[in-house]
Amino acid sequence: MDYSVVIPVYNERDNLEILLNSLTEVMDSLQKEYEIICINDGSSDGSDEVLRALKRKYEQLMVLEFERNCGLTAALAAGFFRAQGEIVITMDADMQNDPQDIPKLLKQMGDYDVVCGVRSRRHDPWLRIISSRIANYIRNKVTKEEITDVGCTLRAYKRKFLSRLKLFDGMHRFLPTLLKWEGAKVVEVEVDHHPRLYGKTKYGVWNRVFKAFIDLLAVVWMKRRRLNYKIKE
Ligand code: UDP
Ligand code: MG
Repeated sequence: MDYSVVIPVYNERDNLEILLNSLTEVMDSLQKEYEIICINDGSSDGSDEVLRALKRKYEQLMVLEFERNCGLTAALAAGFFRAQGEIVITMDADMQNDPQDIPKLLKQMGDYDVVCGVRSRRHDPWLRIISSRIANYIRNKVTKEEITDVGCTLRAYKRKFLSRLKLFDGMHRFLPTLLKWEGAKVVEVEVDHHPRLYGKTKYGVWNRVFKAFIDLLAVVWMKRRRLNYKIKE
């Protein structure tokens, strides 16, 4: 298998058919073997039924159902674990990411192990955009990193690096950092971003700030305590 597209889904009923339509069109054009893994993260809006119907239409679609909402990191981790593709592509289910950008990510893959999308013209409420910029700035300063857009799910990863990760809730914001520790070479690429057409965002300013700060402390601790030895020849 060449590619696995991993998509976390939490209450995205009205976006799923549009997503699958345009995603399969792009993936088919690559003429490689691929699968799409949707992780239904405890949706209560009928996304499960829509996914079941789509599964009948698209044989390349695999659906994993969580018993309850477990969060974005858990959904991604479940997808990573099931993925068979050598390259794993992640994206949001709400069509804010554009499937048309996937070939662009893959083109960069050659010399790199992780290609991160950067939403340079982001279409979200201004308060969200400003708070994300501040959060990214603080995160980068504290962890001595240079990740422009940790909140962009649209990325491509070589799967062999993903399988080295032990993930914890909230760590989706630090994936490039954790992967660099595993030896991955990371590059950034500008991608499109669209306004959300259906459903609501799951992240506000205040429901993230405290948790994301604690998570940042955890990453600082891990960075300091990470085992990083080399054995002499
Ligand atoms: N999501 C999820 N579990 C959650 C929260 C979000 O699977 O607990 C999914 C959601 O359905 C979407 C993606 O993660 O596909 C990003 O969420 P959202 O679009 O709400 O975030 P934003 O784009 O506003 O940052
Ligand atoms: Mg979104």
